[in-house]
Formats: sequence, structure tokens, C-alpha cells
Amino acid sequence: MNTWQRKQIDRPVAPGELSSEVNVESSDVKNPGPFRAGYVAIVGQPNVGKSTLLNTLLHYKLSIVSPKPQTTRRQILGIVNRPHSQMIFFDTPGILEPSYRLQHTFVRVAHSAMQQADVQLFLLEPEATTRPMDHEILQRLADTGRPIVIAINKIDKCEKSILLPLIDHLKDKPNVKEIVPVSALHGEGVEALAQALETYLPEHERFYPEDQITDHPERFLAAEIVREKVFLRYGEEIPYSTSVRVEEFIERPGHKDYVRAVIYVERESQKGILIGKGGSALKQVGKMAREELEALIERPVYLELFVTVKEKWRDRESELRNLGYV
Ligand code: GDP
Ligand code: MG
Repeated sequence: MNTWQRKQIDRPVAPGELSSEVNVESSDVKNPGPFRAGYVAIVGQPNVGKSTLLNTLLHYKLSIVSPKPQTTRRQILGIVNRPHSQMIFFDTPGILEPSYRLQHTFVRVAHSAMQQADVQLFLLEPEATTRPMDHEILQRLADTGRPIVIAINKIDKCEKSILLPLIDHLKDKPNVKEIVPVSALHGEGVEALAQALETYLPEHERFYPEDQITDHPERFLAAEIVREKVFLRYGEEIPYSTSVRVEEFIERPGHKDYVRAVIYVERESQKGILIGKGGSALKQVGKMAREELEALIERPVYLELFVTVKEKWRDRESELRNLGYV
């Protein structure tokens, strides 16, 4: 298993917002209190910015992000090391009303993360009225008996006047300890959020070495990168019918690493769309994925992509098992 050093992510970050060193109060330095470490589940509806928030907390693009809902399908573990704490985040798929089998696995993953968490981080978008699903999720989180910290995300694109009534509405819900408005995309409020979360972690030594950012193998991250490019490159239907499996990942000293990934689709017609005229669409996906993978592992990569039809895999238990979703 490989681990990665932190790198700056290339998105705008408010000065001083994300650097834990910058915001440590001098009194904290004199009396930092006990070291804290534990697990935080990031939970919320699809597309509210959970994966973006994890990446911003990590200063690293670990979890894949797209403008489309349901980009994240599995639990993604990200480790944030701070001077006085280690926070281990579980990014989760958005919680929704499932309409096919694969979506049932999303909800299961989110619930399992909640059960393992020391602190629950509930994310929602600022809207005039909260959605019924948000209340359901909050109830589920409260049922775990763990403290809940709420982050209201995407404040960069809302009227500030919407925030106060929303905070007022949420603050008396069971187990809710803090409510922090943030912009995960721009970093605003993220340091305040990290500080709030830290408070509720148990006293404990580190669970992982300080330079480790995740426990996922490179093979998994490579498959996720390919899947992200599919989400970004194609229209509505294709990404949801797609799954990616890395079948080979071979390190070849003195040569490029060899990575063979298979993209599964549900129908023959989707295969054609995925490949595109003369293979052009797939070539673009391959190029984008290879560049990101090379940046991640800091080695040159030869990436080969194949497309295979697996009829209705999203709704078949055996295929979901084969693809590692259950
Ligand atoms: P998830 O499904 O909850 O993991 O959401 P993602 O992290 O994949 O983000 C969904 C979309 O929301 C992406 O297009 C993000 O760029 C966007 N997004 C996330 N956080 C913010 C934010 O703070 N402000 C704005 N304007 N967009 C955001
Ligand atoms: Mg996500």
C-alpha cells in the first residue's frame, strides 16, 4: 500500500483559511490540551459538496467530484493531521430515496459510516426551507447518539439573509452541537469547521502515521479517477450506467507503470457513445485520467482503457458483488 505526501490543491483558497498553523491561537500553543483522534462521517444529500469539503480539508484532491449528483459511490477515507489532532473522515455517497439496487448500496455505505463515527458532520445547502430528507438524515444521525456538527455549504452562492433563519431552525435539533457556514469550494469557514470538529473527538493518539492521507490502494484511486472523467465527459445517462475496475496495475521500474482499466456499461449503445467516433471520446477520458493519475502517484503511467457491456449491472446483486459494491 502506498501513501501520499500532502500537496496543495489547485483551487482558490482564502488566505490563511486552510493552514492549521496560521489559525492556532497563541494560548493554544501554550496549552494545546490533550491530543485527539477519531472518525468523522461526512453525510448529506447528493451534490451538497461532501467530497469537495473532504478535499479542501485534506489540501488534496482525493475524492472525486463532479457537478452531477451521485458521483461518490463508496466510503472514501481521508486523514487530516493537525497539530493537536488527527481527524479521519469518511466521505460517503449522498443519501437519497433509492430506486435501483446500486443506490441501495449508497445508503448502506452512508449508514455504515455513521455507525463508525465519533462525530457526525452533516452537510446541507442553504435553502429557505429544509428538505424532508434532511430531517430524516438528521434523525438518523441523532439516533447514533454522537455529537452532530452541521456545515451549511456553498455560502458563496447564497443570499446571506437566508442563513440566520436556517441556523435558527437547525440549532435545537437533537445532538446538534455547532453550525458552521462554509464554502468548501473556496475554503471559507473550513478552518472554523475543522476546529469545531476537533473539539468533539475523543482523546486518543494517532491511528495512522502523520504523512498518510488515505488507506485506499492506488488501484482503487485509479479506478475512481477514470470514473470521475467519465462523469465529467459524458451527458446524463452514461455516467450512471458506468462502473470502472482496474484489472492490472503494474509498477515497472525504469518504465511507465502499466494500468489496465475496464469501463463497464449496461448496453451496447452506451458502449458506442463511450468510445465515440474513431475512439475519440474514450481517448479524451484516457488522457485526462492518465494525467491525473501520474500527478497522484508521481510516476509516468501507460493507461489502457477497455469498454465492456454488462447487461443491467446496476440492478443485479451478483454484478454488484463482482464489482465490489456489496
Ligand atoms: P457531493 O455529491 O456531496 O460529494 O458533492 P461534490 O463535492 O461532488 O460537489 C457537487 C458540486 O457542487 C460540484 O460541482 C462542486 O464543485 C460544487 N460545490 C461544492 N462545494 C461548493 C461550494 O462551496 N460552492 C459552490 N458554489 N459549489 C460547490
Ligand atoms: Mg461525493
